Amino acid sequence: MARTLADARRWVEQGTLLCQGALGGLDEESFAAPSLLPGWTRKHLAAHLAANGDAVGNLVHWAATGVRTPMYSSPEQRVADIEAGSTLPGVDLAAWFDRSAASLAEAMAGLTEAQWAVEVVTAQGRTVPAWETPWMRAREVLVHAVDLGTGLGFADLPVAFLRELGHDIVGKRRQAPLADSPEVQVWPVDADGVTWTLPGTESGPPVLVFGALADCTAYLAGRGGEQGLRASRADQPTTIPTLPAWL
Ligand code: ZN
Repeated sequence: MARTLADARRWVEQGTLLCQGALGGLDEESFAAPSLLPGWTRKHLAAHLAANGDAVGNLVHWAATGVRTPMYSSPEQRVADIEAGSTLPGVDLAAWFDRSAASLAEAMAGLTEAQWAVEVVTAQGRTVPAWETPWMRAREVLVHAVDLGTGLGFADLPVAFLRELGHDIVGKRRQAPLADSPEVQVWPVDADGVTWTLPGTESGPPVLVFGALADCTAYLAGRGGEQGLRASRADQPTTIPTLPAWL
């Protein structure tokens, strides 16, 4: 993978700024309005983003001290905290996001090279070196900055981040072939040397999907983008295949 620790940490900063810009422009009514994520208001999403900052901070604390500190005390607690957070006033949620982002940045800035290599366990149960945590956080703040639904799109996200995100999503999606579908190849037309292949259960010629990197990654993330894409199969135009949910 091409990304470095410095890349991921820069993306955390950029995503944090985008979220702060989006949250800072909301009045109480807009905070209570739906986000782009099904069933979640912007308050739910702001609470999730703030709680995630604290949770990733727990892993950084683990790496710094060697004391096992899980992201969340349990999956149920994670959900309960988001629900409780969604009832707070918007200004409190924005302040919580700022606080958690600032302490996370400070904690990351204090890690030594040896501490970045310490193994920690994510909420999904994956054992990873601490240097994966900025990438985990970058994905959250950058993708959810779009999900807040205040007008940001994937085209507003850093290009190098979008490439990494595409690789990351396709790596997960490749674990299960697309049901009742031939192979799908996604070709960002503005990203040199990038093609993403999703295996399908049907044989025959693949479906080729073309479009801008931002639309291709939005599509792979299950967040629209289809209107900017075109697809062909065996040199004939075809419909854009529907992908199952990603996150
Ligand atoms: Zn999330």
